[in-house]
Amino acid sequence: MFKYIKPAFLCIMIMTICLLSGCQKKVNTANRTEEVLGTIITGTIYGTQNEDQLMTALDAAFDRATELEAIFSAKLPDSELTIVNESAFSAPVKISKELYTVLESSLYYATLTGGAFDPTLGNLISLWGIGTENAAVPDSESLEAYINQRNYENVVLDKNEQTVFFTSDDFSLDLGAIAKGYVADEMKRILEENYDVTSALLNLGGNVITIGSKTDGSPWNIGIANPDEPTSSITTISITNQTVVTSGNYERYFEEDGIRYHHILDAATGYPADNGLISSTIITDSSIDADALSTATFVMGLDTSMELIEALDNVEAIFITDEGEILSTEGLSFR
Ligand code: ADP
Ligand code: MG
Repeated sequence: MFKYIKPAFLCIMIMTICLLSGCQKKVNTANRTEEVLGTIITGTIYGTQNEDQLMTALDAAFDRATELEAIFSAKLPDSELTIVNESAFSAPVKISKELYTVLESSLYYATLTGGAFDPTLGNLISLWGIGTENAAVPDSESLEAYINQRNYENVVLDKNEQTVFFTSDDFSLDLGAIAKGYVADEMKRILEENYDVTSALLNLGGNVITIGSKTDGSPWNIGIANPDEPTSSITTISITNQTVVTSGNYERYFEEDGIRYHHILDAATGYPADNGLISSTIITDSSIDADALSTATFVMGLDTSMELIEALDNVEAIFITDEGEILSTEGLSFR
């Protein structure tokens, strides 16, 4: 008996001495902030690797974001998305696996939300010009052509051929409501798979994704912006290895005659969504899902959104109404 206790006892002794004398490796950190895809991305990663190794990992994650910008940007004249928009109505266009993945997910969410999330609003978005110098309320005649078009039904993907084809020529894709989520997932994947990062927080302009927990094992505390004062938080939620994505009426907008026109459009009216919500936050594992759902729920309004999110596994939400009420799904505890 004694023979067996002894090694175990020794082990415990060594562990105790290690803990007391700081045998544990020092935790280092790396930080970087950069504008990519029209968004300020901030990344902080922690680990026992040395600082140079951590910085190399973070740089690789940012390089991935820049690579993806060249695919998804609606602004870059030579992005893959721009080329698809120019040519997919005349013949099927072979696309990258990244664009295929995001389009497949976009069509899934467009169908799931009855077009509240609609990746084919490119022309309507350009007409409003929100976020550009030319932002203005369009006249009702020009708007008419864009209302209730359900053009996402005219986007045909071919899995075997990896192509996209538009069966109508009067629309264009805009992936601004989902691409950032995909970029967040990809940055996380690179850090985990290629660099064994186990603790990180990435913030893509309010679209937050985390790896693991803080290095002391406690969860990350993520503030949800106060729509009336977006630099401060209205509430905080705790997450581990999850993502938190908010769509709000304060992110990009212009004002005319005292009315705020924000950048999330409702295809049913052609106008900025005005269905009772001023902020919609989704908490789940994958940021592409969270991004699509935060935009969709913002458009759908409280009741329909609550029903939708409660029906989805492992997805939670916080909604803020235009009366300032904060409501959350049942599975969520927040303060
Ligand atoms: P943010 O980019 O501020 O995080 P969102 O994820 O909600 O916010 O995306 C808003 C962007 O998505 C708009 O700037 C526009 O490019 C595009 N968009 C606007 N309305 C819709 C909609 N109903 N469905 C899909 N995309 C939209
Ligand atoms: Mg979104």
